[in-house]
Amino acid sequence: MAGVANRLHSASADRAIAEQPAGHDGRSAVDLADYRLLVSSLFSSPGSIIPGGIAGILTPFLCWISTGAELFMALTICVALVVVMRIITVVRYRRLDHAEDTLAQTTRWDREYFFGATVFSAVLGFSCYAALAWTDDPAAHITSVSSTIALASGYVARNAGRPKFVAVQLLTFCVPMAVGLIQAHNPYYQYIGYFAFLYVVANIAITNSLHRNLLALSDATKQSKALATALRSQNLTLDAALNTMIHGLAMFDRKLDLAVSNAPHAALYGIPETLALPGTPISAIARFLVERQVMTPEQVRDIKAALDGVQATQQAAIYELQSRNGRMLVVTIAPAAEGGVLMLTEDATERKATEARIEQMARFDELTGLANRFEFNTQLAEAFRRQERTGETFALLYIDLDGFKQVNDNLGHDIGDRVLVQTAARLKSAIRHNDLLARFGGDEFVLILPATDVATVRMIAQRMIEAMDRAFELDTKTVYVTASIGIALAPVDGAIPADLLRHADTALYKAKAAGRNTATFFDPAMAEEMLERHEIEVDLRQATTEGALELYYQPIIDLRTQEIVTREALMRWRHPTRGMVPPGVFIPIAEQSGLIAGMGDWAIRQACRDAAKWPGGIGVSVNISPLQFREPGRIVETVKNALLLAHLAPGRLTLEVTESLLIEDNKTTLDVINELRAIGVKFALDDFGTGYSSLAYLSTYPFSQVKIDQSFSRDVNSDEASKAVIEAVCQLARRLSMNVVVEGIETEAQRMAVQLLGAQRAQGYLFGRPQPVSEFSKGDEPRKIA
Ligand code: C2E
Ligand code: MG
Ligand code: MG
Repeated sequence: MAGVANRLHSASADRAIAEQPAGHDGRSAVDLADYRLLVSSLFSSPGSIIPGGIAGILTPFLCWISTGAELFMALTICVALVVVMRIITVVRYRRLDHAEDTLAQTTRWDREYFFGATVFSAVLGFSCYAALAWTDDPAAHITSVSSTIALASGYVARNAGRPKFVAVQLLTFCVPMAVGLIQAHNPYYQYIGYFAFLYVVANIAITNSLHRNLLALSDATKQSKALATALRSQNLTLDAALNTMIHGLAMFDRKLDLAVSNAPHAALYGIPETLALPGTPISAIARFLVERQVMTPEQVRDIKAALDGVQATQQAAIYELQSRNGRMLVVTIAPAAEGGVLMLTEDATERKATEARIEQMARFDELTGLANRFEFNTQLAEAFRRQERTGETFALLYIDLDGFKQVNDNLGHDIGDRVLVQTAARLKSAIRHNDLLARFGGDEFVLILPATDVATVRMIAQRMIEAMDRAFELDTKTVYVTASIGIALAPVDGAIPADLLRHADTALYKAKAAGRNTATFFDPAMAEEMLERHEIEVDLRQATTEGALELYYQPIIDLRTQEIVTREALMRWRHPTRGMVPPGVFIPIAEQSGLIAGMGDWAIRQACRDAAKWPGGIGVSVNISPLQFREPGRIVETVKNALLLAHLAPGRLTLEVTESLLIEDNKTTLDVINELRAIGVKFALDDFGTGYSSLAYLSTYPFSQVKIDQSFSRDVNSDEASKAVIEAVCQLARRLSMNVVVEGIETEAQRMAVQLLGAQRAQGYLFGRPQPVSEFSKGDEPRKIA
């Protein structure tokens, strides 16, 4: 960089030198441009070189003619040669484009010009001196002095770009002339000689001033060029920004003629290029939109009115419009800063669709299309507000499907989902269109029935139950799913949403307990019962960890031999304040709270341990809850381990299951039964006759024993139907090689009756009440019943 600075210096580029900072490329590039401009100014008026050159040649020539001195002839030739050389230089320079000249190239042109001009002025200066000092010819004097002065003046104007040139040339021109004049003996010549110095000084000053102006001009030119470039690039950026905007943008002036618009605007409205030109009146665009049926005349009229309105009020306005091709356009019209209006158009088709979908997803259940829990809560709160305002009562129906879990588990979620979809349709068919039915989650639905009396609510609930009480036909599968409904009335059964829901849920629980497929209204006694259940649950949880449960045993007798063949283990819970809690109370609670699994495991282990101590191969029966079969691996494991640990022969263990387990028709149930039967464990069907009493179960499942419910033995002597059932079951059992146990024998008459009907075994207070091991191990066991 220092090198560049030096070269500039040697080229006497004064301004360039002054502004040349060492080591900064950006600045030097700018200075080089200045330098180029100054140098090009030297070559800018070739027209003046020729007359100047001719005047230069003529000066020594006229002196030669006038004086006849040969020196002037030689000088004439010399000047002519220099002039020719300079013309060649100018022509060469002007033939080329110097915009990209390097510093070295520019310097070369600068020097060449300087050299030519300096030789020219020096030769003429010498010619002038020679004419003044060595001749007395007045014509030669006048010619030389006047042409020297004239040519020097020309230099000032012409070479102002390079002031030092001018100085050098003025000196080479005028100093010889001045010396020649001062040497003359004529005082007037001497005055003129001294004036010549003043002339030189004044002209140098003028040159400098011209030079400064030239530089200022150059700066101004550069600035305006830079400004134009910046403006152009700004326009390009703005154009690019406008056209890459997603939204359509159009700006109208005060007359509502189009001022500017972007490509998306034209695309959104299908406007051709000719109508997107600045100055297009809005009426022309409007006509086009209507003709091409992009918009209806009403829409166009509205938009125009909105544009006018915004201009008048200076208040932005938003306008939504559905274009004829189905796009949803959101048009924002706002006042523009400089007057006129700005129209921004967004194609909101996708956004609106997404918003609608999000709204739908937030409020509605995706599967059934019913309101979801969130929407239901909102509507329930609204129903309460309405109730407060108008006093209108309403009912809340809590609907839960019976047996849905089994459908889902056994047939898969696809079938489960289809059942739910069809359930939604069936439930809806039972209600009015504007009643709010929501899916609360899983297989639970809720319904708000406004302003209805109890009879109507009951009627609608019944209609829903009936709608569900038909088989679902899904592909090749027939599925039965019924509905249980709990009903609570607002505000009597609950004055806030949470209470009303809880009480409807309580009523639902009751409906389930009452055998399902039914509707139950809430009553406050239920709430107390629920509270008690809750307390029992808490205590039971504690009891299971503290070992407060016991097993009592009740004998099962062989009616022919009167001997105890098996003892049934019956669970007992000695509650610290409630006393002995019967299993009928705590087993359902254990089932509902999930405690049954642990309690059931314990019962199996304990029963095996106890039975292992019994003499005479007396067996033990353990009741198994259907819920224990939900964990098939666990029950199999528990039974096997219990037998192993107690060293009890598997053949001595009978597991009692109820029909409800079989209704679920679970393949895993059969797998569990078969796996345990394979090691010798027996199975008994308990409480036969209370449920579906399907004789088919007896032949489908490999039971070794069926226990007829005590309700049949109770009136066996008075009721023919009971008799018939016992007899039929006994016959079938015999054919299937099963034992029959009749439960609940309390009297001798009952014993005789059932024995006559074909029963081999019996169980009941007549033979022994359930008692703890400690009681019957006192020595009266085993015994024959007399
Ligand atoms: P279950 O298996 O049918 O048991 C027979 C029930 O009848 C017992 O009631 C027994 O005390 C009662 N009973 C026996 N003989 C007579 C009689 O002559 N007259 C009358 N009125 N009743 C008689 P308990 O012990 O209250 O058990 C009720 C039910 O609780 C059982 O019915 C059984 O289903 C269930 N349970 C008992 N222990 C367990 C257990 O460890 N696990 C499971 N899952 N359930 C159990
Ligand atoms: Mg039993
Ligand atoms: Mg029973």
